Amino acid sequence: MTDTDTTTLSEPTPPVEHVDVLIVGAGISGIGGAYHLRQQCPDKTFTILETMDGFGGTWRTHTYPGIRSDSDLYTFGYRFKPWTGAPIATAEKILTYMGEVIDEHDLDRHIRYNHTIERAEWSADEQRWTLSVTRTDTDERLRFTCDFLWMCQGYYRHAEGYTPTWDGMDRFTGPIVHPQTWPDDLDYAGKRVVVIGSGATAATIIPAMAAEAGHITMLQRSPTYFATGRNANELADTLRELEIDETWIHEIVRRKILFDQSQITTMSAQHPDLVKAELANGIKEILGEDYPLDPDFTPTYRPWRQRIAFVPDGDLFHAIADGKASVVTDQIETFTETGVQLTSGEHLDADLIITATGFNLSVLGDIEFVIDGEPLDFSRTVGYRAMMFTGVPNMAWVFGYFRASWTLRADLVADFVCRLLTHMDELGARTVVPELRPDDADMAIGPWVDDDNFNPGYLMRSLHLLPRQGDRQPWLHTQDYMTDKDELPAADLDDGALVFK
Ligand SMILES: Cc1cc2nc3c(=O)[nH]c(=O)nc-3n(C[C@H](O)[C@H](O)[C@H](O)COP(=O)(O)OP(=O)(O)OC[C@H]3O[C@@H](n4cnc5c(N)ncnc54)[C@H](O)[C@@H]3O)c2cc1C
Repeated sequence: MTDTDTTTLSEPTPPVEHVDVLIVGAGISGIGGAYHLRQQCPDKTFTILETMDGFGGTWRTHTYPGIRSDSDLYTFGYRFKPWTGAPIATAEKILTYMGEVIDEHDLDRHIRYNHTIERAEWSADEQRWTLSVTRTDTDERLRFTCDFLWMCQGYYRHAEGYTPTWDGMDRFTGPIVHPQTWPDDLDYAGKRVVVIGSGATAATIIPAMAAEAGHITMLQRSPTYFATGRNANELADTLRELEIDETWIHEIVRRKILFDQSQITTMSAQHPDLVKAELANGIKEILGEDYPLDPDFTPTYRPWRQRIAFVPDGDLFHAIADGKASVVTDQIETFTETGVQLTSGEHLDADLIITATGFNLSVLGDIEFVIDGEPLDFSRTVGYRAMMFTGVPNMAWVFGYFRASWTLRADLVADFVCRLLTHMDELGARTVVPELRPDDADMAIGPWVDDDNFNPGYLMRSLHLLPRQGDRQPWLHTQDYMTDKDELPAADLDDGALVFK
C-alpha cells in the first residue's frame, strides 16, 4: 500500500480493472472519443466511466422547459454522423442522436454508468494512472488503472448551477429555481415568473413557459446580443430536394455554416456597428420599429465578446410581442416576500423566481489529481495545444469552443489522441508528457482565455483555476476552429514539446 492509498487497513482492497484508455464522461465528447478510438485504434481496450445513470451529459442534466441547443446540430453533431433534422434541436433529439451512435458502434458495453471518479493518481514507476471510483448506486469503491486518461468531463459542475447570493433571498415565499436542477413537478400555470438572466437559457425558458405562465419578466443586469432566424437551413433543404446523399449534405452544410460564422467573426471585429445593426433589425422585425431597443437589447460590448444567443424563429420576441413576456434591465437591491426590489425603485411581483445565472466551472471533473505523490495544481500548468498540460503525463482534455460548436473540437482532439497513441506504440513509448523546451523559456505565459476577447461570467469567476497558455505554438489556446482544423492534424509530435519515455 502506498502513502497516497485512499483505502484504510480495515477496508478490503477494491478490485482493480485495467484498460489502455479510460474516458471520463459519457457526454457528447466522451461518446465521440470512444467512437474515434474504436475506428482509429481498434486494438486499444477502453472504458467510459460516467457518474450519471445514462449518457448525454449536458443533455441529460438539463430538463427545463424548452431545453435545446443554441448551436446548429450540423456542427454540434459529430463529423461522422449526418444530422438530418432542424438545425436547433431539443435535448431529446440530441440524446436520440447520441443513442444511435452508441448503438451503431456497439459502445454501450464500454460504458459504466453510476461510476464517479474521485481521485486520479499517476505513478511514473508504473507508468499508469490509478483511479479511485465510487459507485453511486451501491456505494461500492472500485479501482481502475489505465495507460492513458481522456478527460471528457465538460466544463461545469453538473450537480448544481451557479446562483449568486442576493440580499433577502430567504424572505421570498415562493420557489427559487435554478434551471440546472429543475423540479419535475414545478407548477407555473398562471403564475407571475421572474427569470433572472438574459443568456441562452433565459431565452429558451421564457418562450417555452410563456403559454402556460401568467406573465414572465426577464430581469437582466445587462443586455445580450440575440440573433433571430428560421430554425431551418436553406442549403440543406435544397440539397435534400435534389436527393443528395445525407453524408454529403452534412459535410457541405457544415462547411457553409463554418464559412458564414467566420465571416461574422471577422465582421464583428472589423465592423461591429454593422453587425449590431443587423442583429437589431432582426428584433425590430418582430417587436416593431417603435419598440425601444435601448436599454434592453443594446449591449455595450462589441458582438462576439460573449456568445451571441440564437433565438430560433424569434420565439422569445414573439412572447414579448404577445404581451406574455417583458424585459427589465436593472439591478436587484433585495428579494422581498413577494418578489424583487430593484435599485431603480421598481418592484417586480413574482410567485416564482428562476435564476438563469449560469454555471459553476468544474475544472477536471472535481477529480483530485496526484502526480507521483504531489497534488496537481492545474493552474500552474501550461496547455499544449490546449489539450495536454506540462508535467501531466498521458492525459488529454477536451475543452471545446465558446463561439463555435463544442463538438468540432471534440472530434479534432479525438483524432489527435488517436494519432498520439499510435505514435507512442511506434516509438515503444509508454509515457508522453508536455514540457517547455529551452527555447520556450522566455515565452510570455498568460491566462487560459484572453478576457479582452471573450469574457462570460463563469469563466471570469474561475480563471485562476484554469491552466495557462503561452504566446506561441504549441502552447496557444486559439479557440479558433479554422486554425485548429489545419494545425492539429499537422502538428509535429516530435518537435520536442512532447517528451516520450
Ligand atoms: C443548457 C446548455 C446548452 C448548451 N448548448 C450548447 C450548444 O448549443 N452548442 C455548444 O457548442 N455547446 C453548448 N453547450 C455547452 C455544452 O456543455 C457542450 O457543448 C457539450 O455538451 C459538452 O459536452 P461534454 O461531453 O464535453 O461535457 P458534458 O456534457 O458536461 O458531459 C460530461 C460528462 O462527464 C461526466 N463526469 C464529469 N465528472 C465526472 C467524474 N468525476 N466521474 C465520472 N463522470 C464525470 C458528467 O456526469 C457528464 O455526463 C451547452 C451547455 C448547456 C449547459
